[in-house]
Amino acid sequence: MVGVVWQAPSVTNSAARLVAGDSFVAARCGWLADVVTGEVRPDVTVVFDGDRVADVAAGDAPTPDGAVLDLTGCVVTPGLIDLHTHLTGEVESGSYGDILMESEADAALLGVRNARRTIDAGFTTVRDVGAFRAFSDVSLRNAINKGWVTGPRMHCAGAYITCSGGGGEVTGFSADVCVPDAMRFGVADSVDEVRRAVRLIKSHGADLIKVIATGAVLAPGTNPGAPEFTEDEIKAAVDEASNYGTFVAAHAHGAEGIKRATRAGVRSVEHGSFADDEALALMAERGTYLVADVWAGDWMEEEGTKSNWAADTMKKIVDSTETQRDAFRRALAHGVKIGFGTDSGIYPHGMNIHQLPKHVELGMSPMAALRSATLWASECLGNDEVGVLEPGRFADLTAVEVSSDIDGRSTSVDEVLGDLSRFVTDMRHVVKGGVLAR
Ligand SMILES: [Zn+2]
Repeated sequence: MVGVVWQAPSVTNSAARLVAGDSFVAARCGWLADVVTGEVRPDVTVVFDGDRVADVAAGDAPTPDGAVLDLTGCVVTPGLIDLHTHLTGEVESGSYGDILMESEADAALLGVRNARRTIDAGFTTVRDVGAFRAFSDVSLRNAINKGWVTGPRMHCAGAYITCSGGGGEVTGFSADVCVPDAMRFGVADSVDEVRRAVRLIKSHGADLIKVIATGAVLAPGTNPGAPEFTEDEIKAAVDEASNYGTFVAAHAHGAEGIKRATRAGVRSVEHGSFADDEALALMAERGTYLVADVWAGDWMEEEGTKSNWAADTMKKIVDSTETQRDAFRRALAHGVKIGFGTDSGIYPHGMNIHQLPKHVELGMSPMAALRSATLWASECLGNDEVGVLEPGRFADLTAVEVSSDIDGRSTSVDEVLGDLSRFVTDMRHVVKGGVLAR
């Protein structure tokens, strides 16, 4: 890759020979951001055993025979986790008309492109929280796991559980337009229908359940502030999900919807735009994660203004962006657990990393922001194989360049880890399972 200039004698890769798909037996890291201890450790060797970490050792520790990845000019973090993606979709014009003009094959191929863009952005694991074409995410996950396409490890929701005409429906068309069944798979209007939807969604291979508890910003005719399911209906989803050993992520903007979802026992509240202090205190008490897409509003406001998105949609974007950021700051004060999630697909895929410095701007320390996208995100997923570089977990990592003489800049690790904006501009390598993805 361009920009790799560090060539310690003990390492075997060179800038010219590095190719995506190369596998390594170890990585020599200039610095390791240790998300467990909170320390930044200099001169660390991460030794791999196949796709797993075998050892994290100080200095030039011995490595098995094979190629060693030279990251001595970089600060290394565990592979990043985005808890809120939609890899098989992308709303390009702020309108759901786009979705109806795409076939199932289009969604699949779009997913292939987006999976590549997402791992290139540093994200080796995602929680994909709903696809308009039911189970297109599950197919993409399976293709990645089989090695057909390159992309992050995926935890999939399969489809949205939403009420008729709710925030998870493809809305905005006249009443006589028939939206395809595949886009209405999880529509449910009672406790029993919610249970049925959970069972069917699980049987088709979903890893978790996504419930739309309030209206949505981009769904015409729905109100993000308004609750759309009763507490009993959400609780039915939580109970049924737990029968399958999994959990519910609840889309909820409005305070009442957040409280119902939290009392019902969801694992995470997505968005949280209009959370009041009572809702945040309840989330802190119950250990409910807040996964708030606090960067996407910047992109939507800019793009929507430029491209003349519908006035109704623009008003909802403007109304929710700053209130969400205020809620995020107050959530930190309440001690709510924060998970990193960007809602990729409402902005172009591959820009996920822009949200990392936003977490710092809104009051998190840089190490806390990194934890929200690694350690804490893995806890929210219930996945102890990712999120930390330690023996037994997957050998997934990102490397951000600290110093380069290519363009005459010289920087310190403190500067890179200061506000995390260098993660946007200077990410050099991404490794998934010991294999170079970027
Ligand atoms: Zn979303």
